[in-house]
Amino acid sequence: MKTVGPGPRAEETPEPLLSVRNLCVTYRTDSGSVPALDQLSFDLHAGETLSIVGESGSGKSAASLAMMGLLPPNAVVEGSVRFRGRELLDLSDKKLREVRGKRIAMVFQDALAALNPMMTVGAQLAEAVSVHDSSASRAALRERAVELLDLVGIPSPRSRSDQYPHELSGGMRQRVMIASGIANEPDILIADEPTTALDVTVQAQILDVLMRIQDRTKSAILLITHDLGVVAGLADRVLVLYCGRKMEEAPVEPLFYEPAHPYTRGLLAALPRIDRGTRRLAQIAGQPPSPGERPGGCPFQTRCPHADERCDVIPRPVRVGENHTAACVHAHEIERVTP
Ligand code: ADP
Ligand code: MG
Repeated sequence: MKTVGPGPRAEETPEPLLSVRNLCVTYRTDSGSVPALDQLSFDLHAGETLSIVGESGSGKSAASLAMMGLLPPNAVVEGSVRFRGRELLDLSDKKLREVRGKRIAMVFQDALAALNPMMTVGAQLAEAVSVHDSSASRAALRERAVELLDLVGIPSPRSRSDQYPHELSGGMRQRVMIASGIANEPDILIADEPTTALDVTVQAQILDVLMRIQDRTKSAILLITHDLGVVAGLADRVLVLYCGRKMEEAPVEPLFYEPAHPYTRGLLAALPRIDRGTRRLAQIAGQPPSPGERPGGCPFQTRCPHADERCDVIPRPVRVGENHTAACVHAHEIERVTP
C-alpha cells in the first residue's frame, strides 16, 4: 500500500469552489406552495465533476436555476450558495450577471430554444465572448467563434459558423450550446440534462466533448441528469436527489458498487447491463409522489421495500463510508452490493 506523509491539511482539503448549504426552493402557485428543493447541501471543488441524479421532478433544475439566480419570480429561495467564498444569493442582478457566463456558465437541455433562430451560430458565439471581453475586435471575435466550434468537434467550423441554428442537427446545436457555455472559460459549467433530447450515439459524443473540454479548461462540471447510466464513466462524485432531498452522496465507485440508499439501489437495478441480457429490468415500483402528496418523514417510504415505522421521521444523512453518506435509517442494515 502506498504510504503518504502527513501533508499540510490545507492542501488535502482546498476550499471548495462552490459551497451550497441548506438550499431550499419553494414555488408559489395558485393552488398553494410547491416545495421543489429541501435543505440541499454540497461542495464542488475545482476541476471536479459532480453529478446530480434523480427522476423527473426531483428538484434538479430548481437547484441549478437557484445557483444561477435564474428562478422564475414565483420561486422563493433560502439557504446559501457561495462561489469562492462569496454569497451569490445576496448579489444584485448586475453583479450576478458578471459571475454568470464568465465564472459560472450553464448548458440547458433544449438547445433550439436557447439559441437565437435569427442569428448565425458564429455571430451568437462571438456575442457570448464579447459580453465579457469588450476589447476584442470583430475579426478576433469571429475567429474565436470558429475556434470554439472546432473545440466542440464541429466539422468545417468556418463554414458552419455562418449557418443558422435550424441548419444544424440536434447534436450539433447542443455542441454550439456547449461552445457558448465555455466561451469565457468558466470555472464551473452547469449542464442540466445536456443530452436528454438526443439519441444514444449523439449523447455519448456530447458527453465525450464535455470531458475533453474539461481536460483542457480544468473547469468543474456539475452534470445534472435523470439517467444514472450516463454518469458512470464521467463523474467523480454523485449526489442522488429524490423529492427535493439528498438521498445519497458518494464518490462514483462506492455509489455504483456499494450503494447504501434503497432509492439509489432502485435506480441501479433499473439500469440496462450487458450481463443481464434481455431480462426485464427491475423498475422502482410506483411513481414519485407529487409535492402535495409527499409523506412526512422519508419521502421514499411509499416506494421503499425496507420501509417501516422508523421512516416516519426525516432521516438524517449517516456516514456509511469515506465521503459517503446516505439519508436512510436502514443504511447500515442493507446488504451493500450492486443490485
Ligand atoms: P427536475 O429538474 O428534477 O425534473 P424540477 O426542479 O424541474 O425537477 O421540479 C421540481 C418540482 O418543482 C416539481 O414538482 C415541479 O413540478 C415543480 N416546479 C418546477 N417549476 C415550477 C414552477 N415554475 N411553478 C411551480 N412548480 C414548479
Ligand atoms: Mg430538470
